[in-house]
Amino acid sequence: MIPTVMPTYARADIVFEKGDGMYLFATDGRRYLDFGAGVAVNSLGHAHPHLVAALKAQAEKLWHCSNLYRVAGQEKVSKRLVEHTFADTVFFCNSGAEAMEGVIKLTRKYQYETGHHERYRIVVPRGAFHGRTLATIAAGGQEKHLKGFGPVVDGFDHVTYGDIAELRAAIGPQTAGILVEPIQGEGGIVAAKLDYLRAVRAIADEFGLLLAMDEVQTGNGRTGKLYAHEWAGITPDVMGTAKGLGGGFPIGAILATEKAAVGMTAGTHGSTFGGNPLAMAAADAVLDILLSDGFLEHVRQMGALLWDALEKLVAAHPQVLETHRGAGLMQGLKCKVPSTALSKALLANGLLTVGAGDNVIRFVPPLIVEPQHIAEAVALIDKSCKELAA
Ligand SMILES: *Cc1c(COP(=O)(O)O)cnc(C)c1O
Repeated sequence: MIPTVMPTYARADIVFEKGDGMYLFATDGRRYLDFGAGVAVNSLGHAHPHLVAALKAQAEKLWHCSNLYRVAGQEKVSKRLVEHTFADTVFFCNSGAEAMEGVIKLTRKYQYETGHHERYRIVVPRGAFHGRTLATIAAGGQEKHLKGFGPVVDGFDHVTYGDIAELRAAIGPQTAGILVEPIQGEGGIVAAKLDYLRAVRAIADEFGLLLAMDEVQTGNGRTGKLYAHEWAGITPDVMGTAKGLGGGFPIGAILATEKAAVGMTAGTHGSTFGGNPLAMAAADAVLDILLSDGFLEHVRQMGALLWDALEKLVAAHPQVLETHRGAGLMQGLKCKVPSTALSKALLANGLLTVGAGDNVIRFVPPLIVEPQHIAEAVALIDKSCKELAA
């Protein structure tokens, strides 16, 4: 019989009932160190007092009123995002896929609105992940996500991630934009070279295309900058973000320049739940912490600590680990053994991680991680690798 929860996930047989900072507690009484953060979502860990207080206070006032009215929280959070990013304007929605679907729509609309009705195609590197809607699985272009869900939404041309010549060759008269992740997350923690991102920016300008970025996972402090493209010293024209922005509350956002958003006028796009007062209270509270003095520096320091520790582990366990990559607090270990075997061992030893493509285990801890948590995680990884090598 089919489970009442539709079986689209191969779930681990654990039920969590409580979280506290870097730790999750399961109904079996066990405590787990959380280096998965609910797939890079719990940016401030679990039950962060500032977030809890903000949500509680808002819950007693107003949850939802729809976008038929002004929403004070949207005005506040959008102002903060605009002040700290390339963007001039923000659309709020509820998830990463919804943000990226909107990014795709905006890219097409920009070209339409500026007289290029023929330009609708978007060039996307292979290995990308943009969500599970019909357009975003087409954008990602991965067979495992597309199979059985055809016909595939038209308008995406795929090229090798990191290959500028191939990208250039894929641009034609119908091309509207280029869509890239600064670091491919689901694809296996593959970081673009900063020069690649700069070249992509230049090519977009040269051909009159929008540069669209997916910072659903890399954004909101994950790499030690508010948004990862900042490392390259470039800005996109439009960007989708989500995961960490609500600290666990479902929220997505489209950030765009005024120029790129030219076609996004009343009636062109919408979302019933998007940017409701509860979500905005959560995002505002997350931004309080992300933007506080020294917080992103803390992320960079913890990222560097984790980096050195994982490098040592790769050197120490050549039968189990192949290589190490990523940036900030978004790092991956590519395994020689099946990565699922290692993640199972880690889980059994009390460390939560997330799988990724290319046989990689993802480490995306809450950004509040401290050196002692990294030391604890490293000891658990070391122990698990020894078990697997034996
Ligand atoms: C998770 C993710 C998405 C999809 O977000 P959902 O909230 O699951 O819809 C899109 N793009 C990237 C880069 C992601 O990591």
